[in-house]
Amino acid sequence: MKLGILGGGQLARMLALAGLPLGIRCKFLDPAADAVAGHCGELLVGAYDDPALLAQLADGVDAVTFEFENVPAAATQWLEQHLRVAPTPRALAVGQDRLAEKTLFAELGFGVPKFAPADSLDELRAAVATVGLPCIVKTRRLGYDGKGQHRLREGADQAAIDAAFTELHRPGHGGLIVEGFVPFDRELSVIAVRSRSGEVAIYPLVENVHEGGILRRSRAPAPDVPAAVREAAEQFVTRLLTHLDYVGVLAVELFLAGDRLLANEMAPRVHNSGHWTIEGSVCSQFENHVRAVLGLPLGSTAMAGDGFATMLNVIGTMPARTAMLEVTGAHLHDYGKKPRAGRKLGHVTVVERARETADAVASRAAGLLRETAKPGS
Ligand code: AMP
Repeated sequence: MKLGILGGGQLARMLALAGLPLGIRCKFLDPAADAVAGHCGELLVGAYDDPALLAQLADGVDAVTFEFENVPAAATQWLEQHLRVAPTPRALAVGQDRLAEKTLFAELGFGVPKFAPADSLDELRAAVATVGLPCIVKTRRLGYDGKGQHRLREGADQAAIDAAFTELHRPGHGGLIVEGFVPFDRELSVIAVRSRSGEVAIYPLVENVHEGGILRRSRAPAPDVPAAVREAAEQFVTRLLTHLDYVGVLAVELFLAGDRLLANEMAPRVHNSGHWTIEGSVCSQFENHVRAVLGLPLGSTAMAGDGFATMLNVIGTMPARTAMLEVTGAHLHDYGKKPRAGRKLGHVTVVERARETADAVASRAAGLLRETAKPGS
């Protein structure tokens, strides 16, 4: 079987790596000639909405999926006329727009931060007044890893609101959204997969730590989460998958404030907070996504060997390979990308039979990552 993927970054690469043992090959389309998925399959280089390249991508594949949500809707619409595209363009459209996401979450009865849209400076002033301070102004579209966001603190004045507008507003780019700042205790995510026949499987809840808007560490199962919180997250993601008639892996980022769970955003694709599933679960998010979009049976989302997983992102500089491999139990993933400040270059996963051991091994690995992050090293 063959799968076409829009995007050729590390997510597409890990999808391809998951498909290989099953006899599934992947073909990619990406604007960058050095897109790292090209190490694992045929890479077409050019614009996502170039009909000639889309035709080449579609040629000989059984289905097409995407590795990130910012591919032009026109590309998936074109592909849909020729073959099966999963997740559906409707799920993609919702996942591309923070306003559509929050509106849908609220419609489905799930808690969200207070929010209001703003397409002009006057609307932004009004939206900030409605939501209240502190708040975060975000671009509705194309934000990622904390980019496209401006925080307005308690006491922020008109000048601060104007500055947020000047920084973020770009005519024709889909407007802004103002969200109430959530004084959360923890960030969690729930990752689930739905098959073509409507079967849903959910991975254990994940706890995430971000720094500067970028994910640094994920732990699964998230420690010390009350059963009611876990069940609420599972019920919500199931409702969302069913409502969207979704096929593939979906991730939802959540805030836990006291015992209140609020939904931040969804990613209609495999997600960074699910990378631990490669070693930590019976069937990884990547394999399950490939299975789902190709109409194959889903695999188990249970933890492998009743283990505890910790995943650390490698950002900006790769650690010395030998030193990392000397950490017994650390699984190194080097995406083969060119180093650049703030860029996700790889990750390290630790899976152990006890949470304490996983944390101890992960902190040794984290020490090596800090070493390499030092300027000049
Ligand atoms: P996002 O791009 O929406 O995932 O935001 C990146 C990170 O910014 C989140 O993981 C949170 O740490 C923080 N953040 C985003 N929205 C809010 C909010 N409404 N309240 C508090 N923190 C937020």
